[in-house]
This record gives sequence, structure tokens and C-alpha cells, in this order.
Amino acid sequence: SLEQMTKSDTIRLRDRYIGQSCKLFYKSNPLKIVRAEGQYMYDEKNNQYLDCINNVAHVGHCHPDVVRAGQEQMALLSTNNRFLHDNLVLCASRLASLLPEPLSVCFLVNSGSEANDLALRLAQTHTKNKDVITLDHAYHGHLTTIIDISPYKFNKPNGTGKKDWVHVAPCPDVYRGKYRAIDYIDEDLGVKYAEDVKQICKDIKAQGRGVCAYIAESLMSVGGQILPPPNYFQNVYRHVREAGGICIADEVQVGFGRVGTHMWAFQLYGEDIVPDIVTLGKPMGNGHPVAAVVTTPEIARSFYNTGIEYFNTYGGNPVSCAITNAVMEVIEREGLQENALKVGNHLLAELKKLAKRRKIIGDVRGVGLFVGIELVRDRIKRIPATAEAKHVVSRMKEKKILISSDGPDDNVLKLKPPMVFTLENVNHFVSVLDKVLEEVDIDFDEESEPTTTIIKATISSIGVDRSTAVNSNGNSLFVRAN
Ligand code: PMP
Repeated sequence: SLEQMTKSDTIRLRDRYIGQSCKLFYKSNPLKIVRAEGQYMYDEKNNQYLDCINNVAHVGHCHPDVVRAGQEQMALLSTNNRFLHDNLVLCASRLASLLPEPLSVCFLVNSGSEANDLALRLAQTHTKNKDVITLDHAYHGHLTTIIDISPYKFNKPNGTGKKDWVHVAPCPDVYRGKYRAIDYIDEDLGVKYAEDVKQICKDIKAQGRGVCAYIAESLMSVGGQILPPPNYFQNVYRHVREAGGICIADEVQVGFGRVGTHMWAFQLYGEDIVPDIVTLGKPMGNGHPVAAVVTTPEIARSFYNTGIEYFNTYGGNPVSCAITNAVMEVIEREGLQENALKVGNHLLAELKKLAKRRKIIGDVRGVGLFVGIELVRDRIKRIPATAEAKHVVSRMKEKKILISSDGPDDNVLKLKPPMVFTLENVNHFVSVLDKVLEEVDIDFDEESEPTTTIIKATISSIGVDRSTAVNSNGNSLFVRAN
């Protein structure tokens, strides 16, 4: 047995000794997972679960190459980065080689929160400003400073509230957000949402303050698996830079090939979109705590010029770097980015078909293995089917499939599986989801179509049509801007 005590004893000790704010998944009947492999997790009774949400186990749970790299390095040396070590420089140079110029200077840290905290510090040092623009519903981590820029946390009823140096821009959600594709047929929603950021920059200046940074995930995950409209980021980045601020892309969830067509999600929007700082985490260590900040030589120099040393006890230790190097190696060798594209396209196509039969599906959106299924009680009014989403998550678990729900109304089923997810996994997932949705499905009198948003990436060359998002009728949702 892989257990050291019965499940009820584990629950008893956890209740007694672990802070109750650390919530369990499937609270009423939590899972006790004792081992995992690839895209599967196993409980204490050896039941197999298909893991559709673990974007940390990026190259598959317990990938043997990654495990071996960590074990071998751990047996040799683990120390801080004040000593020279090949693993660190190999890790940094490989990360830099995967990013566009001038993103080439790395700081290795231990978590996504630490990465975003350091990104803010870099931005504040470089711009000498303090004001930060963040997106509504965003989550960037659990540190005090990062909670301050995470409306998802500070806006909770007992949250710490919005600080005066924090400015919240609308989430560019064309399905449920401030500007919806259905209401603005002839307008470029990317431009419209970006105008709101421009206005915030103006307001900051009007208050006699300066813009420090704009931070956003390149695809909003906690916000409900959101695909921002084409032209959003180019315009936002321009407005923010014109106001003297810098642009931070949080790729903690969506980086390392998940989007299929590119290594980084910000690359979906065109070659001219290059953030000033990128933060990486989760998939980077395949479960081992490691994260990074990558920035430009210019911003790194401003930080250096303060004369203050940056020391992080564990950041960049040889074990974490060995593991990260193995992860990058496996992504490439096993063609996992390409797999994400192939399997993700199949998943989206199958979900589109399912949406034709299951009326509770209001929107299907995604790119690569980053997919959201928004459940609604009414397709016209778009009333969030929150309780139904909860029911689906729990029923899927009974059928041995792990998914979760998110978004401001907690009605978006999200999929972000390990990148080794297969076509068969998709077929199994969709057929089980179909049966479970039947339990909560609704009838419509009128024939209304679900919406489907898919970013067909611009594939490197500039000038290619950026506005190829289509709905399920094949009509473009966005007006072409260039
Ligand atoms: N950024 C994003 C987008 C995240 O989703 C998370 C974690 N959910 C973080 C940052 C923080 O990462 P960590 O939990 O490793 O501190």
C-alpha cells in the first residue's frame, strides 16, 4: 500500500493541523491521490482518474526524465546561486533562446507569486513609478504585494480591498465582459477594451502620478479561460508604453507550449507583441517549485544600478535548474507543443459539436490545450449556470475525470491537462461530459446558436489576418483592423 494511514485518519490530521483556509478539492469527499503517471492520477484504492486540469504536470505526471534529472542532481549538489553552476547558465540561456529579443536576462525564483513580485520590483525600479494596471478578476499570486494586484482576491467580501496605486481594467472577455461580440458587430473589440486601459493611464497622470506597469495573463485563466480579442495587446502595450509604463506578461499558467502554435501565449497576437517582463512558473518544474522572471538587459540594468543585491536562497539552485532543463528537453523531444495543437484542435471541434446538442453550453473557447466551456441557463440572457457547473464537476469526478470550474460566476468548465493528453482522452472526456450534461441540460424554445471563440494564431508572419476568431457558424467575431 502507498498509504501510511487510512483516508479517514488523513482527513482527521489535516483538519487538526492544517489551516482551514487551505481548501480541499471535492470537499465533501476529497480525493486521496497516492501516485500519478502521465495524464492519470491514482487514489489509495488504485482507481484511475483522467487529469484534465493539472497544468503543472506539464510533460506528464512524474515524467521519468524529469524525475531522474532531479534525483541525480540532488545526490550531487544543491546550493545557492552564489557559486558557478552549469545547470543555471544552461537553464537561463535555454529560456532566453525560447523568447524573442530583447528578453534575455533571467532571475530564477521558486514560485509564480515570487516571480510576479520581483517583476513588480523591477518595474518600479525601472520606471520609478508605482501605479499598476491589472485586469478585473485576475489572480497573480498569494504574496501580500501580489494580492494587491489580484482583484480575484482583494475584491472578496473580507478581502483587503483595492489600494490607491492599483487600477483595474475590464477583463477583455467578448462573451460576458463589458463589450461583447454580440453587441458590437462592426467594432474592433480589441481596440475598445484597450481604450479603457488608455483612459486609466490618463487618469493616473491626471492625479499627478506615473504608470509603472500593466500586468496581464496572455490568456486569462482564473478570469474564466478568456481569449482576448485580436488587437487588444498591441493597443494596450502601445498605450501603456506611451504613458511610460512597462508591460508584464504573466505566463505562469499558459506558457511552455500549451497554446500549441507557439511556446508563449503572448506570441498568439503577433510577432510585434513583446512584453518587457515575462513571468514563468507552474509547468516549468513539472511539479517541482521553480519559476522565473525574464526581462530586457535595460530593465535588469536599472535594477543592478540600485546597488542592492538580489539574493534568493533557493532560486536557481542546481536541482531546480536540472529539472527545468529536463522539462524543456522533453517538451521539444516529445513534440508536446505540436501535440497540444493537434489534440486541442480535436477537443475544440468535438466540443463545438457537443454544443449543438447540449443547450447549456453557451460558449466554447480555447487555443491548444487551454479550453473553457461556459455553461448558461439561457443562451440569450447568458445567465450563468453556476450550480450546474458545480454538479458537472462533481459528477465527472464520480466518473473518474478531474475538471474544475472558474470565472467570476464559477460557471466555466476549464481544461488545461498535461500536454501528453491524447485524442482518445478527448473522445472519452467528451462522451462522458455529454452524458453528465444531459442531467442538467435545458430546453430552448428558440433556436439560438452557441458562440465559439478560437484564436487561430497568426503563425509568425506579420500582416496575416489577426482577426480570425470565428463563431460556430463560421462567421468572424471580430472586425479586421489591419
Ligand atoms: N500567476 C498565475 C496566472 C497563476 O495562476 C498563479 C497560481 N495559480 C500564480 C501566478 C502564482 O503562482 P504560485 O502559486 O506558484 O505562487
